[in-house]
Amino acid sequence: MTVAGACGTGTVIAAHGRHYLVQAGDEKLQCVTRGKKSDVAVGDMVELKKTSANQGVIESIGERKTLLYRSDQYKSKLLAANVTQLFIVVATEPGYSDDLVSRALVAAEAGGIDAHIILNKVDVTELLPKTRERLGMYARLGYPIHEVSARRNPEQTCATLKPLLDGQSTILIGQSGMGKSSLINLLVPDAELATREISAALDSGKHTTTFTRLFAIDDHSAIIDSPGFQEFGLYHLTEGMLERAFLEFGPRLGNCKFYNCHHLNEPGCAVLEAVESGEIVPLRHALYQQLVHESSQKLY
Ligand code: GDP
Ligand code: ZN
Repeated sequence: MTVAGACGTGTVIAAHGRHYLVQAGDEKLQCVTRGKKSDVAVGDMVELKKTSANQGVIESIGERKTLLYRSDQYKSKLLAANVTQLFIVVATEPGYSDDLVSRALVAAEAGGIDAHIILNKVDVTELLPKTRERLGMYARLGYPIHEVSARRNPEQTCATLKPLLDGQSTILIGQSGMGKSSLINLLVPDAELATREISAALDSGKHTTTFTRLFAIDDHSAIIDSPGFQEFGLYHLTEGMLERAFLEFGPRLGNCKFYNCHHLNEPGCAVLEAVESGEIVPLRHALYQQLVHESSQKLY
């Protein structure tokens, strides 16, 4: 796609406001959408028309396999498209939030995306048993937990994680301090250089890490880095989607006294009985209640 006016396809590798950076073959093109639409997400496959040597216009968005949303003041906005798996990075220290981990798991379940928990800093051995025990609630739900040490044992970390990336589009998220940047730098060759290039191309040099970006690892694998702890937008989820996203509710659904039970405070609720008996972690049920409440607050 060498000349202006030529059409082609590409992948959105970064988004900043209504400006998108699209990788089209060997070229990175700064693109805008037609009109006021800004419904393009990192990871989208797009059709574009080249308007100058390094610019283009996005004409259409390809069908999405999956779509993740970020939270924006009681609204769900697009975060990333075509993600196939989510790595939630936690660590032995500093402490992580179970609320944020579970919100990420809900986003993954609702989006049809595989979720893995990456436990970093296992070299901090004095905190390891307690952290493993805390993560047990996710292991019991079937979520794989991978133990790594990005700084102390990079070889083992790569040997553990790299095979999981093959053929996948993986988004990494984690609260600040968990070691997400250290992991990205291990897994993506020249990540810092690529980020500087992306920032320069989007003309946002001073905001180097404030936008989501996609790094291609090979022709069929990519890593998406999302700044800070991306709080997921879950406002668009219906109650039915929410109850299915809590995997531990599954075996109980259909056993409640009322067929239209909301599992909030109804008598004869099988989910609440499981919370009472300790089979369902109260923290998870409390989050479900909170999310039902939040989705009723949505502003659109
Ligand atoms: P981010 O905020 O999640 O991107 O985290 P960083 O990658 O910047 O790491 C936060 C801090 O944790 C830095 O001081 C890292 O050197 C440190 N760190 C990263 N990985 C490890 C690890 O495996 N073990 C230990 N002990 N520290 C680590
Ligand atoms: Zn119920």
